[in-house]
Amino acid sequence: MHTPLVIGVLNGDDIGLEIVPAAVEVTRAAAEQAGLRIDWRPMPIGRTALDTHGSTFPDGTLEALSKMDGVILGPIGHQAYPKTAGAINPHPILRKRLNLFANVRPTRSYPGLGALRDDIDLVIVRENNEGFQPDRNVVAGSGEFRPTEDMTISVRVITRVGSARVARVAAEIARQRGKRLTLVHKDTVFKLGCGMFVEECHRVAKEFPDVTVDEVIVDTMAMRLVRDPQSFDVIVTTNMFGDILTDEAAGLVGGLGMAPGLCIGEGNLAMAQATHGSAPDIAGKGIANPYAMIESTRMMVEWLGHNRKLPEAVHAAQLMERAITAALANPATRTRDIKGTATTQEMTRAIVEGIAPTR
Ligand code: ATP
Repeated sequence: MHTPLVIGVLNGDDIGLEIVPAAVEVTRAAAEQAGLRIDWRPMPIGRTALDTHGSTFPDGTLEALSKMDGVILGPIGHQAYPKTAGAINPHPILRKRLNLFANVRPTRSYPGLGALRDDIDLVIVRENNEGFQPDRNVVAGSGEFRPTEDMTISVRVITRVGSARVARVAAEIARQRGKRLTLVHKDTVFKLGCGMFVEECHRVAKEFPDVTVDEVIVDTMAMRLVRDPQSFDVIVTTNMFGDILTDEAAGLVGGLGMAPGLCIGEGNLAMAQATHGSAPDIAGKGIANPYAMIESTRMMVEWLGHNRKLPEAVHAAQLMERAITAALANPATRTRDIKGTATTQEMTRAIVEGIAPTR
């Protein structure tokens, strides 16, 4: 029998309190069926943690997480945090300090959910730890500053090492899929920054002669994602371009509830994190679509299965995939944002029953 996988559970805020327990419930069912042992470690985070521990990211959390195999991170509603000490946005700290530099975001169309086409199946790999995001691109202070009342300067950081490592993750994924990799950038204008990103991507791509590489300028990509999304396999891009294009891609297949994500790095830890935010407008109503969170968690289990050579985890991920697909195919077992009638709990229950019908 294998050593249990240690998985941290961070509910996050708003709909996180509904969809993270849903993801855990589904994973528990699959793990039980597949003989996968998981040691679940719930940890305080977000608004609840601010009330109970005086901080949205209590001391010791990062250290504890860094020793785990996986983390499920619910959406964080940091914009609504009070302006008090202890109310910080944990996202950038987690991604940076755990060195989760690659954000793997698949987009797949399922029939009947309102997708633009039925044959979309692509993955956007977004660089996660540098770029224009001011909270990630400097060690201290901010990457944005205002020298005069009427001028703001935002700094974007692109490094060779940061570009090469995300390119490698994307090329590995392309190798497992359709063997096509598209570099998205704007080196026509950002000759140095995007230029360096592209150079590094091509350098890494030489290690993957079986993967065909092409390039698309980001504004053209925004248009082509709408017009011919089926022609893409794996896309790799810098942080902010990836942020925007992944929301656009979610829109192609039914909205933000359909946008999962997995944060990985060179280490042994993976973090499941849906692309969407905490959606305070629908929180507590029982209508949030749990797909993105459940699928992100499934991706994490699958990744751990390959990374740790654990067939039980690969099997659990397969069980989850089948049950998720079945629930999505029926309007009675999918939520209303994707043309269904189910509540969050009903959809979750349907997936659990698809995994373990006798439960
Ligand atoms: P952030 O900047 O933190 O990513 P955002 O401004 O993009 O957040 P979200 O919280 O992601 O906003 O949500 C935008 C809207 O999409 C919500 O108001 C909600 O109506 C819808 N939405 C997001 N996630 C879901 C979901 N899981 N299920 C159903 N609807 C969702």
